[in-house]
This record gives sequence, C-alpha cells and structure tokens, in this order.
Amino acid sequence: MPGGDVLLRAAARLQPLVGERVEASSPNPRGLVTGVARAVDGRLLERVEAVGKHLLLHFEGGVVLRSHLRMNGRWRVRDRDGPAWRGSPWLLLRTPRHEATQWNGPVLALEARRLRRLGPDLLAPATQVDELVARARAVDPERRLGDVLVDQRVVAGIGNMWLAELLWHARVSPWLPVGEARDDELAAALGWARAAMLASVSGRRSARAVYRRTGRPCPRCRAPIRSRGLGDANRTAYWCESCQRSS
Ligand SMILES: [Zn+2]
Repeated sequence: MPGGDVLLRAAARLQPLVGERVEASSPNPRGLVTGVARAVDGRLLERVEAVGKHLLLHFEGGVVLRSHLRMNGRWRVRDRDGPAWRGSPWLLLRTPRHEATQWNGPVLALEARRLRRLGPDLLAPATQVDELVARARAVDPERRLGDVLVDQRVVAGIGNMWLAELLWHARVSPWLPVGEARDDELAAALGWARAAMLASVSGRRSARAVYRRTGRPCPRCRAPIRSRGLGDANRTAYWCESCQRSS
C-alpha cells in the first residue's frame, strides 16, 4: 500500500493543473460509473493535497474529489502535445497545456464526511509528534504497536513498509503491546518515520532494514529477519527478534 510519500509525489505532479479549468472524461467504464468526471467537468481546480492516504482535488463550488490508490492506482501527468495514452484511464483531466490521468482507481469518489475521522497527518507541518504519542496512548493498551501505528484514526499516512522500518529504527517489535512502549520509543519511532518519509518525498531513498527481507541478516545484529501476519487486516509484519524488544 502506498505511504504518504507516494501521495505527496502525486500531489506535486498535479500542481501544474491547479488554477486551470478542466475538461473531464472517463475513458474507462469503471471510472465512468463513479460519476466523478461529470461532477468536475468544466470546473476550476483550486487545490490538490495529500491527506494521509488520500489525494484530495478541490474544485470550485466546494466539489472535492477523493482518490485512494491502494496497491495499483496511479496518477500521471504529461504535456498535451506528448505521445498518446495507451489504455483506458479511470479519469482524464485536460487543461490547455496538461493532461492528468488516473489509472486503476481503485477508489475515486466525491468527498463525503469520512475523512474527518482520520488522525493527524504525520507529514503535515502542524502535526506535533507529542500529540501523536498521546493518541497512540489513548487506544486499548493491549493492541500491538504494529497494529496501532497503521491505524489511520491514530495517525494518518503510515503504510506497511514505513511501519516495519520505523519499528526497527526504534528497536521495538511490532508485537509489543502499545501500553508497554515508552513515550520516548514512540516519539523516536514517529519522528524517524516523519523525517525519512519527507526525505523520500524529496527523492532520497534509504536502504531498507527489514521490510521484505525475511530470512536475511539484520543490518544491526545479523540475526535473521522474521515475518508474520499481524492484526485484523493480517498485514505482514517484518522484524528482528534479537534487537527489537517485544516485552
Ligand atoms: Zn537485529
């Protein structure tokens, strides 16, 4: 699942269309049934932002398009005089100079009130790490860290890859109950994730320590990396049993 950094890059790509009136269509029938193209056609695009795992396109008249990319969704932008698209995007937005296309959905909808239930965005400048620690403290203390920190109602924007990496950096296991994690461990984990995700937005990628490295040696202690499904969604957790504490 894409993290907040993927959404921020998509928001950045869409900026050239901001301030322009768009001509909207849905070449793909699955996009057409969402009714989004009809609702935004002819409207001025006022603002594009990434909020947690959602991309929000604000059009004039208070019409807001919400896009959640899950695993396969993509936004692409090109100059209109470039080579033709191949395939059927869910949504095509055209301005005099640019074309933006949304591929494979899977969630393309006009905004309702759902997003209000999201926690603060990890990457928003106004978000304080202390506030996020307090929100993590407010959930059932028996819940595992690897479940709590990807709960978008606690903090928005952390995907499975960043989760695995941030826990490794903070030396705590995804299986540690949140009630047994110290405040300084939670703050270090969230602070590291924020810095690393912002670095990724600006194009700097760091090597992964544990994510999708099952059986390979831990970069810190050389013990083999482990993996197992965790939480209601059964996402795969990756961790080092030797240097990440679980109790
Ligand atoms: Zn280790």
